[in-house]
Amino acid sequence: MNARTRVAPSPTGAPHLGTAYIALFNLCFAKQHGGDFVLRIEDTDRDRVHQRYEKQLLESFHWLGLTWDEGPDRGGDYAPYRQSERYALYRQYAEQLLEKEHAFYCFASAEELAHMRCEQLARGETPRYDGRGLSLSKAEIQRRLCAHEPYVLRLKVPEDGTAIMHDQLRGRIEIEWSQVDMQVLLKSDGSPTYHLANVVDDHLMCITDVIRGEEWINSTPKHLLLYDYLGWQPPKYWHLPLLRHPDKSKLSKRRAPTGILYYRDVGYMPAALLNYLGRMGWSMPDEREKFTLSEMIEHFDMTRISLGGPIFDSAKLNWLNGVWLRELDDATLLADYKKWLDQRNILPAVATPLRTGINKLSDIPEKILFLYQGDIALVADDFTTSHERSLEIVQFAYWHLERCHEWNAENIFATLQTLATAMQLGLNDFFSAIFVAVSGKRDALEITVSMAALGQEVSLSRLRTAVLVLGGGSKKKSRALEKKYHQLIGDSLTS
Ligand code: GLU
Repeated sequence: MNARTRVAPSPTGAPHLGTAYIALFNLCFAKQHGGDFVLRIEDTDRDRVHQRYEKQLLESFHWLGLTWDEGPDRGGDYAPYRQSERYALYRQYAEQLLEKEHAFYCFASAEELAHMRCEQLARGETPRYDGRGLSLSKAEIQRRLCAHEPYVLRLKVPEDGTAIMHDQLRGRIEIEWSQVDMQVLLKSDGSPTYHLANVVDDHLMCITDVIRGEEWINSTPKHLLLYDYLGWQPPKYWHLPLLRHPDKSKLSKRRAPTGILYYRDVGYMPAALLNYLGRMGWSMPDEREKFTLSEMIEHFDMTRISLGGPIFDSAKLNWLNGVWLRELDDATLLADYKKWLDQRNILPAVATPLRTGINKLSDIPEKILFLYQGDIALVADDFTTSHERSLEIVQFAYWHLERCHEWNAENIFATLQTLATAMQLGLNDFFSAIFVAVSGKRDALEITVSMAALGQEVSLSRLRTAVLVLGGGSKKKSRALEKKYHQLIGDSLTS
């Protein structure tokens, strides 16, 4: 059979560089083997999934020039490609597992499980599900089902011994079964968890090679167990190394922009970004730094992947992007520039506030320059309120705005106003810090209108830079701020 690969993102946040990197390697592998590359949307986590993230994902992949043969927008022989449209299938296999006693009912409530965990901790044990559902008699299960008690289905896991898996890049990996939890397969609302849906779909979609990030290695024994229980042949697994910052820490949006659309919005060339992602742990046989996607496909060889934690270094990316840009002929450069300006569409968004304080048309460019820049130069003393207070304002604003689903001036204002009230700050004090963070100036165009024009990714990036400039970058500081934010807002932060 021809190779079939897939990328299976969960649209729970802005599309991430790491997803593009995984997609790129899957695409190259499939094409190099004359096969197909599938885009599957894993949207089973109904609390965190948002439609706009799926839209942004498709938009960012299109912008990058990543193409797929089958997917939610273009169909294919194995449709549908959105897991939320395949629930009946997962239930059918969950029932099969139950019948064969490879899965079991668990009626434990959240409180009961929390209590179990507390007791385990008190005994100095690592908290884990203790298998209590396994001891229920058939009659007891029947009684509870008749009483309509909520339940989940969990995976039966061998009590002892070792799970053995073969990773195509790493060889044999062994994980003690005692380290593998009795995974929930079907949630109490009847929806599947990632693990069940992922395995069922990889099988039904005839995926031959699962190429994904190394953070999934620990889940693979559960997946292989499911294949075994269902009597299916598992695919080959290739776990790619995670992208890292130059100091080797995991790529994190707290430290640098990780959203693909940020790179579009500040004017990187998609082919250059793809080229750079192609250099993450992989190199051309002749080690050349600049190459196109079709050159990468032509020379692609998974065995050339090095596992040593690829470094995503923005300085290196800037250099490579510069090489690409400077090599364009004049007409293409100007056309690309115009296309970028059109896509940014900044002027119409700020037309109204633009007129304040101008005497000549030539006063305009200076006024709007900050809207076109990527990052702006900023130092802590640019802020008018104390550094500590400014830091709280910009960090909390970042977390608040990150969850703003409709990015427009009214929503941005409403979101920030709620925060200012929660922080018991006057709007002037509050917004002056936001002004400086976003524009580098103490007063600029109406700030919420400017942020709407800048777009969410670039606005958040400016706030992030301000957090770093104000000393909020360390883990310790960040944790202290997070605690304070939680206390203030009283709900949970999605990381
Ligand atoms: N939905 C998972 C993710 O968001 C897919 C992991 C996998 O490729 O198996 O990364």
